[in-house]
Amino acid sequence: MSLLSSAALGAAALTTVALTATIGAHPAAAATSTYAVTHATDPYSGRSVVVRWTPCVTSGGVTSTHPITYAVNTGGYLSRVTFVQRALAQVSADSGLRFRYVGTTSYVPRYAVLHYPTGNRLVFEAAQQRAATHAELVIGWVPGTRTNMFSGREAGVGTVSWTGSSRSQLRVVEGAALLKIGVPLRAGFTTGASVGSLLLHEIGHSVGLDHVGATSQIMYPVLGSYTPASYQSGDRTGLRLVGRPAGCFVTAPLAPPDPVAIARSAGVSVTL
Ligand SMILES: [Zn+2]
Repeated sequence: MSLLSSAALGAAALTTVALTATIGAHPAAAATSTYAVTHATDPYSGRSVVVRWTPCVTSGGVTSTHPITYAVNTGGYLSRVTFVQRALAQVSADSGLRFRYVGTTSYVPRYAVLHYPTGNRLVFEAAQQRAATHAELVIGWVPGTRTNMFSGREAGVGTVSWTGSSRSQLRVVEGAALLKIGVPLRAGFTTGASVGSLLLHEIGHSVGLDHVGATSQIMYPVLGSYTPASYQSGDRTGLRLVGRPAGCFVTAPLAPPDPVAIARSAGVSVTL
C-alpha cells in the first residue's frame, strides 16, 4: 500500500499495491469489477483453476476441514492478536475457510531477490517463512525498513505462494499480510482509511483476492473516505470463489515453494 497525499481528503490517503504472487501476473482491474481472483494452470488436472487455499480435504470418503495455521507479529501490541481474529472471523464467515492461531512471532516476511540475466525478480520467501514460524500464514505489523515487501509508500501488502504437481492439486500453501507501522489510520473497523479496512484488504490478498475497480469494495486498491468497514458483496463473491463453496481438495499438499533454492540450483545468484 502506498501513502499518497491528497488535498481532497485533507489527510493522507492510502494506496494499496497489488499482491506479488510467486507465480503469475495480475491483470489490471476493470473499472467496474467488484471481485477478482487469480487463475493458474493446475499441473494435476491440466485445467485452469482458481488459486486458493485448502478449505477441506476429502480422502477415502471422509472430509475433514483444513484450518489455515497463522501466527501474528504484533509489533509489540498483543491486543493486535484479537484484532486479527476479528478480521479472520469475517473471512471465515464469507469464505468458509477456517484459521488456527499458533502464536505470536517476531518473524518478518520478505522477498528474496533473484538476479536473472533479464533482471531482478522478487519472490516471497515461502519456505523460509514456514521454517521460521511453522505457520502457513503470517499476519503482522512491521516497520517499513524491516522488509523489502514494501516497495515504496505502501501502507500494507499481502501475498501468497502456491504450488502444485502431477500428484498434488495446485493450491496456496503460504501467505503473508503485513501492515506498515506508523501509517496514520483510523482505529478499529470503521469506514474510510482505517486499520481494520487495511487489514481486511491485505488478508484478502493472503487468501487469494486481487484488486477490483469498484471503490465500494474492500479490495479496491486505494483507501479513501469511500472505503467500507467490512467486506462488501463483490468481496464476498470473491471469498466464496476461494473458499469452501469451491470444494474440497482430494490430494495432499506439497511443501511451500523454495524459489531461492530453485534459482540457486539453476546458477542464479540470490540476495536474501
Ligand atoms: Zn492491495
